[in-house]
Amino acid sequence: MRCRRPGAARRACDHARVNEPSAARRAACLRCQRPQATCLCALARPTAHRTEVLVLQHPQEQRQAKNSVAMLRLSLAHCEVVVGERFAPAALAALLHRPGRETRLLYPDVPAAPAPLGSGSAAGAAVRLVVLDATWRKSLRMLLEHPALAALPRLSLDAPAPTRYRAIRAARRADQVSTLEATVQALSMLEGPAFDAAPLLDAFGRFVADVAARQRPRAVPVQA
Ligand SMILES: [Zn+2]
Repeated sequence: MRCRRPGAARRACDHARVNEPSAARRAACLRCQRPQATCLCALARPTAHRTEVLVLQHPQEQRQAKNSVAMLRLSLAHCEVVVGERFAPAALAALLHRPGRETRLLYPDVPAAPAPLGSGSAAGAAVRLVVLDATWRKSLRMLLEHPALAALPRLSLDAPAPTRYRAIRAARRADQVSTLEATVQALSMLEGPAFDAAPLLDAFGRFVADVAARQRPRAVPVQA
């Protein structure tokens, strides 16, 4: 679903939902929207959770073979992924808020980010968790360009768990983990021991190993 038609002269926002089956590219898996050769549907691990998850995914991340969000979306029943980097205020407000839910932004507590307006107390409350899937620099820009995002009460990870991601992606910050791992850790903080993501994290470890194995033989010519 596009906000405006592609090609419209000046697009106020550019986001597209990827949850619904779309007119996917040929030879792509309709469910995970990746090329059939690297379909990761078999790695999905249905994981029970109460918190709603909204991932705002930068368009550049959507095209990364090593991006972790597709696996997250396939494994969490209440996970919506919207691709875009500019959101019109009304469209963004409609995405961020749900009746009866307290919206929190998963974002580190860093001096570069503007201070949120609210502190929020998610203890016991039903939460809608907003996650930015972008490089550190781009996620900060998304925050600075969208006051409604910057104003959200934040959730920051206490001490990010060691990442399984290092094999395929150099961390841009010492504490940076994949979006999947950060989201899973946030859900653990919000939901406690009732949330069991061990099978999903194990499957993610296999995904990371697979991608690393495909990347390794760089010197060998690769068939098309
Ligand atoms: Zn698939």
